Amino acid sequence: MQLHLYDTFTRNVLPIAPEDGHKFRFYCCGPTVYGPAHIGNFRTFLIQDLFRRVLEMTGSQTLHVRNLTDVDDKTIRQSQAEGRTLTAFTQYWTERFHADCAALNLLPPHVEPSAVVHIPEQIELIETLIKNGNAYRTDDGSVYFKVDSFASYGALSRLAERSITTDTVDREQSDEYDRESAADFALWKARRPEDGENFWASPFGEGRPGWHIECSAMAMKHLGETLDLHSGGVDLIFPHHENEIAQSEAATGKTFARHWFHVAHLLVDSRKMSKSLGNLYTLEDLVARGHTADELRYVLLSGTYRQPLNFTLDSLSAARKALARLRSLQQHLGTPSSESLDLSALGIFTPVAEALCHDLNSPEALGKLFTIAKTLLAIPAGDPSLAVHSNGLAIVLKALGLTLLAPPVTETPIPDEIIALAEQRLAARQSKNWAESDRLRDEIAKAGWQIKDAAASYELSAL
Ligand code: AMP
Ligand code: ZN
Repeated sequence: MQLHLYDTFTRNVLPIAPEDGHKFRFYCCGPTVYGPAHIGNFRTFLIQDLFRRVLEMTGSQTLHVRNLTDVDDKTIRQSQAEGRTLTAFTQYWTERFHADCAALNLLPPHVEPSAVVHIPEQIELIETLIKNGNAYRTDDGSVYFKVDSFASYGALSRLAERSITTDTVDREQSDEYDRESAADFALWKARRPEDGENFWASPFGEGRPGWHIECSAMAMKHLGETLDLHSGGVDLIFPHHENEIAQSEAATGKTFARHWFHVAHLLVDSRKMSKSLGNLYTLEDLVARGHTADELRYVLLSGTYRQPLNFTLDSLSAARKALARLRSLQQHLGTPSSESLDLSALGIFTPVAEALCHDLNSPEALGKLFTIAKTLLAIPAGDPSLAVHSNGLAIVLKALGLTLLAPPVTETPIPDEIIALAEQRLAARQSKNWAESDRLRDEIAKAGWQIKDAAASYELSAL
C-alpha cells in the first residue's frame, strides 16, 4: 500500500517515496507565534499530521521539520505594542501552540527550529545570493532578492498564466504581500527605530531577516538542499513558497522540494475567518463552549484537504455522535492484541486505509469506517469472531489520529442560542446598558444556564 498525493507544482497525484530510500524528509511552515493559532491554522497542521500518520502507517520512516516563525513583522510589532521582549512574547505563544497541538493529538515534529536561532544560517544564504548575483544591497543596508535573476520565478504559482508580471522597479519590504506584480522582496531588512531591540549584526549592517529566507535556511539546514516535500496552507503558494524556491535554488542550483503539498482553507459559516467578522475561533473558544479537541479533529477530517471546508458549530455536535459510535465499536471489538499493528492486520478495514492512501481522502475513509462499523455492530456483543478485527480498527484510528477519549461527563455542550444571548449580554454590559444586561441574565437563567461575569468575557454553566 503506497500513499499518493497531489503535487501543486506538477498538478498531478504522485506516489510518495523518500529520495534516499530511507526517511521521508519534509518541512511544514510553522505558526507565527504572535497570538493563538486559530482553527484554520489547525486545519493545515492537522492535515500535515494526517499525512505523516498515513505515511508511517504504510511503513515509511519520516523526518518532520516544522519551524516556529518567531521573528517577522507581526511578532515584532505585537511584542513592541505589549512592551515585552520578543523572546518572552514568542515563548508564551509557542507554549500555547504546543498545548493546543497536544490536545489535538498532533505528533510533535522531529525538529522544531526557531527562526531567531537560525539567523547565522540566513545571513550565510544571503551572502551566497549576493555573490551569485541574485541579491543586491540598497543604500539603507537592506538586501533584496532580484526576481528577474531567477528565470523560472513563478513556476509553482503559475504567474505567467495569471498574467502577473515581474516588476523589477518595485520592491517589497513587508513579509506578507498580495499583489499583482512579482516585486523584488526583502531578504534582510535594515534596522528601523520601530524594531526596538530586535536587530542583529550582519555583513550588510544591523537589521533582521525577511520571513521567506528564514524558511529556506531552516529547511535546508535540517533536511538538506533537496527536500522530499514542502507544505503549508494554500495562501503560502504565492509569494512565500515561490520566494523560497527562488532563494534556495538560486543558492544551490538544485531542486528545492520534490513535492509541494498545500491545504485549502477553512471557512466559518461560509466566510473567510477574520477577527472583524467575529467568526475567528481558537480551540480554547470551542472547549469553553463544551466541545472537545477530538471533536474538532473529527470535523477537520470530514472534508478533503484540497477543497475549502466550511466549519459550523453544529458540525461539532454531529462529531460528538460520530465519535460515540466509534467508541462503541472499539468496545465491541475489544483491546487490540498486538502492539506492532502490522498492515496485514487491516482485514475488513483495508478500504479505510486505501482511501487515506488515495490522496488523503479522509471523508471517504470515515464513510467506509462507518459502513464497516454498521456491519460489525450488528454482530452480537461477545461473539468470538469480533476480536480479530480489533487490530485493524487500531491501525486506522491511529492513522486518523482520533483518540476516542470520552468527553468529560460534567460538560454539557452549551446550546448556540444560549451563547448568542450571552454575547448580546456582553455587548449590553460593555455599553453599560444594565437593564438589558439583567433582562438577558434572567432569560439565560430561565433556559437553565447560569452566567458569571469575567473582565471582558463570561462563563456559562448549567443550573
Ligand atoms: P501562520 O501562523 O499565519 O503563519 O499560519 C500557519 C499555517 O496556517 C500556514 O500554513 C497557513 O497557510 C495556514 N492557514 C492560515 N489560515 C488558514 C485557514 N483559514 N485555513 C487553513 N489553513 C490556514
Ligand atoms: Zn515558510
